Amino acid sequence: MTEIARFDVAVVGGGMTGLALACALGTDGIATVVVDRMEAEAPPSPNADPRVTAIALGSARFLDAVGAFAPMRAGGQPILDIEVREARSPVAVHYDHAAVGDEPMGWIVENALIREALIARVRELPAVELRMPATYTDVFTDRDGVTVDLADGGRLRAGLLVAADGKFSKLRDRLGIRATYKDYGQDGIVATLAHARPHDGLASEHFFPDGPFAVLPMPGDRSSIVWALERALAAEVAELPAEAFVAEVAERVGARLGDLELASPVRTFPLVLATVDRFTATRAALVGDAAHGIHPIAGQGWNLALRDVAALAEITADRAALGLDPGAPDALAAYERWRGVDTTALVAITDGINRLFANDVTPLRIARNLGFAAVDRLPFAKRLFMRHAMGTLGDLPRRMRPSAA
Ligand SMILES: Cc1cc2nc3c(=O)[nH]c(=O)nc-3n(C[C@H](O)[C@H](O)[C@H](O)COP(=O)(O)OP(=O)(O)OC[C@H]3O[C@@H](n4cnc5c(N)ncnc54)[C@H](O)[C@@H]3O)c2cc1C
Repeated sequence: MTEIARFDVAVVGGGMTGLALACALGTDGIATVVVDRMEAEAPPSPNADPRVTAIALGSARFLDAVGAFAPMRAGGQPILDIEVREARSPVAVHYDHAAVGDEPMGWIVENALIREALIARVRELPAVELRMPATYTDVFTDRDGVTVDLADGGRLRAGLLVAADGKFSKLRDRLGIRATYKDYGQDGIVATLAHARPHDGLASEHFFPDGPFAVLPMPGDRSSIVWALERALAAEVAELPAEAFVAEVAERVGARLGDLELASPVRTFPLVLATVDRFTATRAALVGDAAHGIHPIAGQGWNLALRDVAALAEITADRAALGLDPGAPDALAAYERWRGVDTTALVAITDGINRLFANDVTPLRIARNLGFAAVDRLPFAKRLFMRHAMGTLGDLPRRMRPSAA
């Protein structure tokens, strides 16, 4: 007979979101299993993913509260200023962290380091078990819980099943939750550059007619670029010899960083919006990209994911303290209500910005520049936008509030 391993929560998907959830649940002593087809400590590959993530202040507070942020703080770059402008226009909105307090607006951290820090923290938590690499063959839900059958013949039983298996989540389909995709027809080109002059902690976003171009400061004299271009053009640009690629980048960055040199492989990521009609099903919840895959234009995808994770972990821990079932309908209804508004707003904002800036009609360009100039002169509006970008606005879970760290 198949032996059944029992947990409070089973998480399918051990990417950055699933692992962050395991850190939160494990910190509260909630028995959690994470299933992922990837090895937990995968050996570094020469074609490694060069992506970095802008971790907003609210997200950093949460990661700190669940014991995972120290290595990210030590190996990441604080964001001290943000500048947003249209192409090479002299008009820009400039956000300085000192306008809203003495903490950075966030940190730029390499995804490889985020993952390493999350795995290290999970390994310290006796309540968390990693089944990595492993895949599931099927899941079955009933009134009392969920059963996950693994390809290696193992069987897991839990009160709550969480789908954290990414934008194209198969588990979401299996749970009967419908997703809608919108292909932006763009790829995001990502690469790391070393430069001659310091970046001074400035993150910049330039909106060019052919796509947004972000320069994110990294430790040392290095920066990461995220450059969205129409797919065929992105493929051509990504395949340019290093010197020609750097010349294209330099034309967009300008002289600010001095001479540039390529310091990573160049990778492209298809930009597709994925939205769902609900975040829960019987005994199951979606988190992270499985719940919403958004355009990286505002660097908010994982920050939104962490707000899912913090909310779900808080509901689960509060119920566990009262001896209540984590997968009961009222727990799932609370999660659905909490996450709906934030997600809908951010999908609309990122999709809207992309459409607004994708259009090169002159009156629209003038209006955008007037908008930048106006926002830059309105301290109240600026502080509001900053707090939104820093993830410190809205109905925040406890671990994202200032006293949490
Ligand atoms: C170019 C780019 C730049 C970005 N920049 C930022 C940024 O600056 N700030 C920010 O907040 N966000 C950013 N994002 C978004 C962020 O990267 C994503 O939101 C985040 O990586 C989502 O993580 P996830 O764990 O939810 O999903 P994924 O990373 O897709 O992880 C899913 C996991 O599920 C596993 N899995 C899938 N199917 C199965 C299965 N059947 N069985 C077992 N395991 C399975 C996979 O192996 C994987 O480990 C960016 C995205 C892109 C593309």
